[in-house]
Amino acid sequence: MTFDLASARVVVTGGAGFLGSHLCDALLAEGAEVVCVDNLLTGSPDNIAHLAQHDRFRFVDQDVTRHLAVDGPVDAVLHFASPASPIDYLELPIQTLKVGSLGTHNTLGLAKEKGARFMLASTSEVYGDPKVHPQPETYWGNVNPIGPRGVYDEAKRFAEALAFAYHRTHGVPIRVPRIFNTFGPRMRMDDGRAVPTFIRQAMAGEPLTVHGDGTQTRSLCYVDDLIAGFLALLRAEMTGPVNLGGSDEVTMLELTDAVIAAVGSGSTVTFAPRPVDDPQVRRPDTTIAERELGWSAAVPLAEGLARTVAWYRSR
Ligand code: NAD
Repeated sequence: MTFDLASARVVVTGGAGFLGSHLCDALLAEGAEVVCVDNLLTGSPDNIAHLAQHDRFRFVDQDVTRHLAVDGPVDAVLHFASPASPIDYLELPIQTLKVGSLGTHNTLGLAKEKGARFMLASTSEVYGDPKVHPQPETYWGNVNPIGPRGVYDEAKRFAEALAFAYHRTHGVPIRVPRIFNTFGPRMRMDDGRAVPTFIRQAMAGEPLTVHGDGTQTRSLCYVDDLIAGFLALLRAEMTGPVNLGGSDEVTMLELTDAVIAAVGSGSTVTFAPRPVDDPQVRRPDTTIAERELGWSAAVPLAEGLARTVAWYRSR
């Protein structure tokens, strides 16, 4: 039986965040009814202000680490609530662990109670500083549980384990995308992630701060591509985990060049120490997404950066 989004009622936790708000937009465009649950810890009401009057959208200001009750039928629970940028989760370590553990428990409980599909926003960080490159879903990862980043990586690893336990024990239909670095409009300019930081610095004509020697790599995905992947996975009959991410791997130095070109800035580059346990390389093996979902990232880096810069300029 196909999953009909047009008649679905969907709970999105973290819906006032960067990815969550784009997801709410896409679900509403498909005809779904959306209940957005967010405590605005790292998100912003600005991201969903345009939806305030939408008759199929409701915002609930709630911490999902506390008991979560939603009236009426629910067809899917999409758990996207979590601090996601290193600046945020290093500042909010306990909240990050709680939303990955208690928050995942509560949202899985809601899905079980309602007979709903459950999607967990997992992450490439479950692979840690990878010893296998590119990373296939079968790779178990190389994570330091007690390092500063462990609060995020281990919360997501626990969340995956809990989702699979609910699937095996209670038959909850789960969907687990492992999301690689994604960028686009609505990222906070001060969230510390590379793309918004470089864009802010390039727009201000300041030097772009590269950590280490800039040879470390990331594979960036434009937000619209990622959201299309979520909808495909939600409709598909597969649990995952499935990698969703861009396959164009760039070094941080190449990224600074691309951002400087997109902004048309005369900025230079300056170097700062690497954060503890910062991964050296990152690229998804997207074979499963291509084969099972017919999905791959389509928007080239330069195009995604141009759209993102245009959005920051419009504000
Ligand atoms: P974000 O910080 O913009 O959004 C997260 C949202 O969760 C925010 O609106 C925040 O207020 C909310 N939130 C946090 N704790 C909460 C709680 N206890 N109760 C209710 N709401 C809470 O981050 P994002 O980039 O949009 O990330 C969304 C999800 O995707 C996260 O789970 C993140 O781990 C995952 N993810 C994102 C990326 C990426 O590149 N953006 C990569 C991998 C995984």
